[in-house]
Parts: sequence; C-alpha cells; structure tokens
Amino acid sequence: MASIDLHMHSTHSDGVLAPDALVGILQAAGIRLCALTDHDTVAGTAAMRAAAERVGITAISGIELSAEWSGRSIHIVGLGFDPDALAITSAVATRTALRQSRAVTIAERLEHAGAPGRAALEHLADVPIPTRTHFARALVTLGVASDAASAFNRWLAKGKPGHVSTPWPSVESTVAQIVAAGGTAVLAHPLRYMLSSGQRRSLVREFAAAGGRALEVVTGGLAAHQIETATGLCLRAGLEGSIGSDCHDPALRWHRPGHLATLPASVTPVWHRWVEGRTRTPEA
Ligand code: AMP
Ligand code: MN
Ligand code: MN
Ligand code: MN
Repeated sequence: MASIDLHMHSTHSDGVLAPDALVGILQAAGIRLCALTDHDTVAGTAAMRAAAERVGITAISGIELSAEWSGRSIHIVGLGFDPDALAITSAVATRTALRQSRAVTIAERLEHAGAPGRAALEHLADVPIPTRTHFARALVTLGVASDAASAFNRWLAKGKPGHVSTPWPSVESTVAQIVAAGGTAVLAHPLRYMLSSGQRRSLVREFAAAGGRALEVVTGGLAAHQIETATGLCLRAGLEGSIGSDCHDPALRWHRPGHLATLPASVTPVWHRWVEGRTRTPEA
C-alpha cells in the first residue's frame, strides 16, 4: 500500500471533511506525504499543513485546477507551489468567477428541464467554489435524486439537461500558472476523460510540451490493467508519476486514502523533489 497521497478534497471544495478531520484519516491510513488538492482553491492549505504537522505528516501545497482541452474539461493538479504567488491567486480568481456564473446557468437549465434549479442554487448561497457535486447534493436534499451519482446521471453529467460547458483556461496557461508559482503540474486521472486512445496520447503529449511534469498513474478505483495503461502513457511521454486517491468522502471505499497501489517501479515518482535525500521511497 502506498504511503503517499497527492490528491484529495476537503470542505473547502466538494469534499465532506474539513482539513483537520481529513488528516485524521490520513494518519490512520499510514500516509506520510500528502497534498490537499481542492478544486480551484487553496483556502484549506494552511489548515491542512498545520493539522498534518501536528501528527508528523508532511503536507505540500496542492490544487486541482480546471482546464479545457479540445472542448473538454480536464483537471491539472498543481503541487509544491507558493500558494500566495500572484499566478495562483489569479488562477483561482478566474475560475471562481467562471464557477459562480456557471452555477447560475446550471440553475436556469435545471429549472427549464423541470428540476428545482433555483432552490438548488439557494443551497449553494454560502459555497465559495460551487461545483457540480454541490448541485448533486442539493438535488438529493430537494428529493429529486436518490443519491449524488443519480443526480449526475439524470441532470448534471455531460449531455444531461443541467450540464453547462465552461470555457476553462487552456492546458498551456494552467501549466504555466503552476510553474510560475514554483510548482509541479500533474495531469489528474488521465483515464477518466472520455477520449479515444489517440486523443488521450495527444492530450498527454501536449501537457508535457506545455511544461507538465507528471501523470497521475495510480488513482482511486483503477484496476491493475488500467494502471498498466497509465504507466505506458506516462513513460512514452517522458513524464514522472504521481499517486492520489481523489478522496472526497472516506466512506467511499475506492477513494479512501491508504488503499492505493504503489507506483510501478519503472516510473520516477514526482515526489522525489519533496522527499529529502532520496529519489525513491521504497514503501511508496
Ligand atoms: P465541476 O468541477 O464543478 O464540474 O465538478 C466536477 C466534480 O463532480 C468532480 O470533481 C467529481 O467530484 C464530481 N463528479 C463528476 N462526475 C461525477 C459522477 N458521475 N458522479 C459523482 N460525482 C461526479
Ligand atoms: Mn470533485
Ligand atoms: Mn478531478
Ligand atoms: Mn479531484
């Protein structure tokens, strides 16, 4: 089992636990190095670092930035950057504005399709970074979906009535913002995008050409043959590899920290730059 987890969410975006509660889960799972990677915000960074420090876990800064590639939403994780850098503040500001105006459009689309969009939007009134997960939870509370997954399947997923395409910043500018803040860009969950294998290779190639450094080779819910596929993509593009549960709720088994496979030995771990004095941690 890996003792590294570089992708997870807190209540500062669409996770269910606050950073200090999340650290309790990490500690019980034997995680030694972690990054909180909330969607388009670094609001939880200081709390995460303080809670991790108290129990002897190393927390590096993290974020999961929304980007656009070929008309699709993709996710780029930034790690080990200065959270106060102007490039990050500006990356966050652009996406916060996009998310807030998208939330209004989602509500209108839902309403138009016969779902309680306006009421759902009211549930999101105090949410600084509104995500579709927040809408899914509101639709469950409002009784029009039995759980978040069905809210996505019926209303919010691509092709459904409440889906709104969002003009996220490009891969190039997103990677550049992370790099400008002294960080390392990781392409998140590369197998989760609806792409042909040729398109996926193009995405990875363009990400690497833009200055992206690593691919999330091991992520929550991947089968062994999928880790092999991700490893091939990673090595072919000359990228390093990362590991992240993408935990939003530790009650969901596949995304629980501490249950991930280790990084294949053929892949250089992205965390060598944050683990003192060695390029590889044998237990990770
Ligand atoms: P957003 O960035 O606001 O478009 O929301 C994306 C988030 O929604 C992802 O990070 C997931 O947490 C969640 N999500 C996307 N698709 C699904 C799905 N089919 N079921 C449950 N959650 C999903
Ligand atoms: Mn999410
Ligand atoms: Mn993601
Ligand atoms: Mn994520």
